[in-house]
Amino acid sequence: MKSGKLMLACSKLRWLFIGCGLFQDKESVGKNKTNSMHFYFFGHLLFNVSLMTVLQWNSTFVQNGIIPANSDILKSPIEYLKGVGPQRADLLKKELNIFTFNDLLNHFPYRHIDKTKVSLIKDIDSSTDYIQVAGSLHNIDIIGMKRGRRMVATLRDKTGTIELAWFQGLSWIQKSLQPGQQYLVFGKVSFFQGQPQIVHPEMELLTTEKKDGKSFLEPIYPTTEKLRSKALGGRQIAKLTEGLMKLISEKDIPENLPDDILKTLTLINRYKAFSQIHFPANAQEYDEAVKRLKFEELFIAQLRMARLRSQRHRFSKGVVFEKVGNLFNTFYTKYLPFELTGAQKRVIKEIRKDTATGKQMNRLLQGDVGSGKTIVALVTMLIAADNGYQSCLMAPTEVLAQQHHKSITSLLKDMPVEIGILTGSTKTAERKLIQKKLDDGSLHILIGTHAVIEKDVQFKNLGIGIVDEQHKFGVAQRAMLWEKNETAPHILVMTATPIPRTLAMTAYGDLDYSVIDEMPPGRQPITTVHRYEKDRPKVMEFIKSEMAKGRQVYIIFPLIEESDKMDYENLMKGYENVKAWFPEPKYWISMVHGRQKTDQKTSNMHRFVTGDTHIMVSTTVIEVGVDVPNASVMIIESAEKFGLSQLHQLRGRVGRGADKSYCILLTSPGIGNDARERMKIMTSTNNGFIIAEKDLDMRGPGDIEGTRQSGVLNFKLASIVQDRSLLEVARRFAEDITNTDPELSSAENLRIKSYLQAIQGKTAWSRIS
Ligand code: ADP
Ligand code: MG
Repeated sequence: MKSGKLMLACSKLRWLFIGCGLFQDKESVGKNKTNSMHFYFFGHLLFNVSLMTVLQWNSTFVQNGIIPANSDILKSPIEYLKGVGPQRADLLKKELNIFTFNDLLNHFPYRHIDKTKVSLIKDIDSSTDYIQVAGSLHNIDIIGMKRGRRMVATLRDKTGTIELAWFQGLSWIQKSLQPGQQYLVFGKVSFFQGQPQIVHPEMELLTTEKKDGKSFLEPIYPTTEKLRSKALGGRQIAKLTEGLMKLISEKDIPENLPDDILKTLTLINRYKAFSQIHFPANAQEYDEAVKRLKFEELFIAQLRMARLRSQRHRFSKGVVFEKVGNLFNTFYTKYLPFELTGAQKRVIKEIRKDTATGKQMNRLLQGDVGSGKTIVALVTMLIAADNGYQSCLMAPTEVLAQQHHKSITSLLKDMPVEIGILTGSTKTAERKLIQKKLDDGSLHILIGTHAVIEKDVQFKNLGIGIVDEQHKFGVAQRAMLWEKNETAPHILVMTATPIPRTLAMTAYGDLDYSVIDEMPPGRQPITTVHRYEKDRPKVMEFIKSEMAKGRQVYIIFPLIEESDKMDYENLMKGYENVKAWFPEPKYWISMVHGRQKTDQKTSNMHRFVTGDTHIMVSTTVIEVGVDVPNASVMIIESAEKFGLSQLHQLRGRVGRGADKSYCILLTSPGIGNDARERMKIMTSTNNGFIIAEKDLDMRGPGDIEGTRQSGVLNFKLASIVQDRSLLEVARRFAEDITNTDPELSSAENLRIKSYLQAIQGKTAWSRIS
């Protein structure tokens, strides 16, 4: 638990440092600065990592620390380290979650400074951030009242003076400072009333022995104002770490990777890596250490994922769909309205193979918007029914659930398959009837919202749960599916949010992965253009001409937060505006937004789906899944406010029928470079995977919803964006080892095995077996 907090603390600190611009320091030896950037970008939830296995994996990971203690000395409580003692230990625990020697060992410096490099005070200007200066200390004084009360002092070198200031721990600091003495001072320069000053600088008496001129890189550690004011600034922590390194030797940090990996990748050993990440002799040593530790992080994570998957394949118990029976065959030969694409066939085969083994299937199915995932879900449910099992299909919204129900019911109308729908608005009597049919097994397919996984919904024999557009479902909700049958049902998670493969492999490494990478034939690519506000009249004329051909139109407004008043007003203004262009009764308009009641939303949506209305004015609530083939034009208002993935998701609502489709991105003229780049990407490709890669490059993995929440992508050093190629290497090694030696029993793998056992601790992460 404490290491959970530690992770949190680390990421908070990183935020802080990024905010301070620390990572921009040119003198910092680390090429490592960008790897923390992704913390900054973690945003709203688009995507939740699925299934208990990940949850379980992650909690073990967190509980046991990122890089756990390997030996007894490292387990020692931090107060026993020379120079710490009970009081400072309390602070270290509270402020940095450093409880043991091992925690301190894993508290990595965020930068190093060349100690021999001392700047001149006259060279400080507005672009200076962190600096080290040396000079004599004068004019120590406590000034100001109440909240403005502070201690100030002047540091003077031969070129000028700079003010130093403290706001906390004044009496203690005052006692420790010696006026007139020479000090080495490090800190961040800020400007107060136009004058440079350093607040809470790190002070060190400049003794002659320090000036031996030998070049070495001094680590600077993350710390807090509070610690700084209690003489536990970055430099003092460096001293503690130095003391710690003297206490331990190679045997305390034994190697955990097989020799051949070390050799192949020319990685330094583990002990060396820890020494060098703290105290490198030069930049190269630091880089070696970082590379080694990053690889270890990625590799161990990948290995655990691969092992979970392999254990599930070998040991889990699942319901068996042994045959493909009448229902499937009849549907396939008589009622399937189109020829399946090659990709759809392949995925169905993968699912069939999985569900016939007697092992539980956990599969992620990715397919771009419009690639035809629903039909895959449908035939899978028919296979379940052929084998006497029930199935359920969960959709994230009422609208989508209704739509699935409608289209599936109509596809199966001549077949002996009983289908029900259960949502939040299902009436009690209806609900009772459904429950009865679920109990006696007469209901084969239940479609609905999350209502279908609520506790009181019981199945006779649920064989498979399919989750559509899964990012709208929480991890816990999905876990509830498992409890719906004595033998855990198979799970198929379908998503249109494209994630790059490397990322999927990290976030979902324990799941099996299928992809529909082919669009149904006959689709016309969507023509996407970027237009400015001044072009609005032309855009309106254009949609008028499309509507004259019988097409329908979406007009999307940003409403990032449904509670955002400004956005809401813009939406209403926009609606009036559209109405002015397209007056009733010639044109009818539907409007859907998050402030409406579910009924109202559903009925407005319904009017558009059935073609009663020509225009749908909406916020992003229609983002997911809705299928209106006749709607072939989409206008996205203030498109600069949307991220790439979201733009792509929205655009996926058009281009579903045989008509030529258009997406018009409307923006104000003065958009920033990033927004311009996004528009350019959107107008140049329709490929969701390419867009996902670009998105990852531009924003980091923050968009991949829920991954942060679950911590799967929270590596301490590695970044899945910058270190993608290393991640790929780690994955290959992990997979290779898991395939050739699943029990890790060979001599060369014993190290990893005992390491994994050490970090697993008491938690049985193989509980899945
Ligand atoms: P998504 O993957 O976004 O859920 P859908 O399953 O809603 O996509 O399918 C989008 C549209 O494509 C639907 O109208 C569906 O009937 C149609 N479709 C799916 N597969 C095929 C196919 N193989 N050939 C032609 N049309 C298809
Ligand atoms: Mg869909």
